[in-house]
Amino acid sequence: MICYNCKGNGFLRLKWEGNESIKQCKVCNSSGEVKDEEHYHQTWSDGVSEETTSFYYGPPLDGEIFKNYKIYPIESSGNGK
Ligand SMILES: [Zn+2]
Repeated sequence: MICYNCKGNGFLRLKWEGNESIKQCKVCNSSGEVKDEEHYHQTWSDGVSEETTSFYYGPPLDGEIFKNYKIYPIESSGNGK
């Protein structure tokens, strides 16, 4: 599945005070794709209020159908690989 965080580019373009910088995408490790069998932390909300944010941990969802959808990098468990 295409990585929603970077839209499949593998990197993010950040604008900060007029400067543009490139940041590698940690969600997909710059590959542009997320693995369906991996579990990711994800959030979304209906946009009415911050308090309606939904949290989800599991396989990547289709970000196009959720408002304010975000997917977060997998936190390394520290046991190698
Ligand atoms: Zn990505």
